[in-house]
Amino acid sequence: METLSVIVPCYNEEAVIGESYGRLKKVLDGITTLQTEIIFINDGSKDKTAEMLSAIAANDNRVKVLHFSRNFGHQPAVTAGIHYCKSDLAIIIDADLQDPPELIPDLIETQKSEKANVVYCVREKRKGESFFKKISARIFYRSMNYLSEVNFPLDTGDFRLIDKQVMKEFKKFREKGKYIRGIISWIGFKQVPFVYKREARFAGETKYPLRKMLHFAATAMLYFSKKPLKLATGLGFITVMIGIIYAIWIVIGKIVGFTHALSGWSSIIILIIFFGGVQLLTIGVLGQYIGILFDEIKDRPEYIVEKEENI
Ligand code: UDP
Ligand code: MG
Repeated sequence: METLSVIVPCYNEEAVIGESYGRLKKVLDGITTLQTEIIFINDGSKDKTAEMLSAIAANDNRVKVLHFSRNFGHQPAVTAGIHYCKSDLAIIIDADLQDPPELIPDLIETQKSEKANVVYCVREKRKGESFFKKISARIFYRSMNYLSEVNFPLDTGDFRLIDKQVMKEFKKFREKGKYIRGIISWIGFKQVPFVYKREARFAGETKYPLRKMLHFAATAMLYFSKKPLKLATGLGFITVMIGIIYAIWIVIGKIVGFTHALSGWSSIIILIIFFGGVQLLTIGVLGQYIGILFDEIKDRPEYIVEKEENI
């Protein structure tokens, strides 16, 4: 019989874990054609999540739990889930029930009928999220497509079904800063969309404050695009052109007599500030890339597992 794992990253989710497990279990019990399990990753939660997951695992041996030694982040948690998964199929889903578990049978159905390797879920609507979150997500997914060499499907999170072949390729990725939805697109094979409405969080607060969102966006950009580096060349080219045109203008102006070049104090200040800014900006971009090279070269593990249950 084919096997299915549901991968659920959890960080401080005590308010939703019970309900999540209940709804997932009900859905998985209804699937008779596959042998199923749930892999919860406790990403260094500071609340009761760890105890709650341990209690669930003690009662249900189809529930596996990985406890991280501290909070490593959503993407490392999902990565660990995929690394530990030995099943034929895996579904990545958030713990907060924004992605309804009841869609799992439909995802499997789509995978079977389309003979797909990946079924990725596209958010047609997002309920209960702030205007800022929705607008920043829209801008993010669109600028990622402009910046990167691969074309990503728009408005798609990590909620998706992947098969064994994709997981096997994913496990070969050595990069530490993982933008999982990008990597899975990059891997290729047959990928089909599945449109759904994203619900509001069942309870609790978002675990993605602005700081984590910016870090996430930076990882995605830096690992999937070299275009920011071309920015330096582009800006340099433009400013050299401006310099040449300005020089010609001054020389001709002197000869013909329509400039009084010496009077330009403010223009000098403006130019110094402007080009200082351009230089700092481009050095900053270089610094970002050097920073990720530094992180990659240290070759530290992406996450540390403190305890495994039912594995
Ligand atoms: N999450 C995690 N580690 C983190 C932050 C989030 O494992 O450092 C999990 C979280 O528990 C949830 C999923 O990642 O299951 C998505 O987080 P959240 O729902 O807070 O993000 P949002 O839906 O608001 O973007
Ligand atoms: Mg959420």
